[in-house]
Amino acid sequence: MTAVEQLKEWIAESDQIVFFGGAGVSTESGISDFRSQDGLYRQQYAYPPEQILSHTFYLKNPEEFYRFYRNKMISPQAKPNKAHLALAKLEQAGKLKAVITQNIDGLHQMAGSREVLELHGSVHRNFCTRCGRFYGLSQILETEGFPRCSCGGMIKPDVVLYEESLDMDTLSKAVMYIKKADMLIIGGTSLTVYPAAGLVDYYSGSRLVLINRDVTPLDSRADLAIKGKIGEILDQAWGN
Ligand code: NAD
Repeated sequence: MTAVEQLKEWIAESDQIVFFGGAGVSTESGISDFRSQDGLYRQQYAYPPEQILSHTFYLKNPEEFYRFYRNKMISPQAKPNKAHLALAKLEQAGKLKAVITQNIDGLHQMAGSREVLELHGSVHRNFCTRCGRFYGLSQILETEGFPRCSCGGMIKPDVVLYEESLDMDTLSKAVMYIKKADMLIIGGTSLTVYPAAGLVDYYSGSRLVLINRDVTPLDSRADLAIKGKIGEILDQAWGN
């Protein structure tokens, strides 16, 4: 039996599946990840991406933060790929209970997934740090430089920057889903960003599936590790 056939069989036998993913889920939609060969960390900027995407940098150099953020973190033309679509179908079939994502691009919802836990927030939500007024993505796309609220306050994306903590409700819900899962599929993540990567430890079942292009620290712990493109693999397992 091939690894994809095994995956297909386990999916057929499970009905409490949870998916946990990262930037690699969206590379087939044309969005760069951070750590692949052509990822953002290999490109040259005046500052490393971790520094630009930190809370301190955002406060000290908001113009430069927004230049990078608009250029590299927002992809308004991107469409869901086969991975997003297969996961949405798995949920509709009653097999998958939640998608837990480190991504901020909103593509799972665009594909039709309903229970999406966004650990690191979303580019689609932005708010004034003075009066709390909410703004959509267009407010960021249609302005230049540092976007300001009508009250004069700073508009900040609802995205978790380095040095900021994760939303506790989202994190607890993710833990709850993973604890109850009969199968955990992890894909498109280098599993190096904490605390998100630590969520895997809450899974105690025997169907831990890892789908990734490169090696991850979890490869030896997985019950099934599949190397390759996640869109193609999930499409073969549950695309049609
Ligand atoms: P990462 O860049 O650290 O790792 C991505 C992993 O995905 C790599 O191991 C790579 O081998 C793998 N990968 C790339 N394309 C793949 C494909 N088609 N199929 C299978 N595997 C593939 O990403 P991370 O672990 O998610 O951590 C990066 C952080 O950056 C996250 O916190 C995330 O919020 C943020 N980020 C988000 C986006 C997005 O929203 N799309 C994009 C870039 C970074």
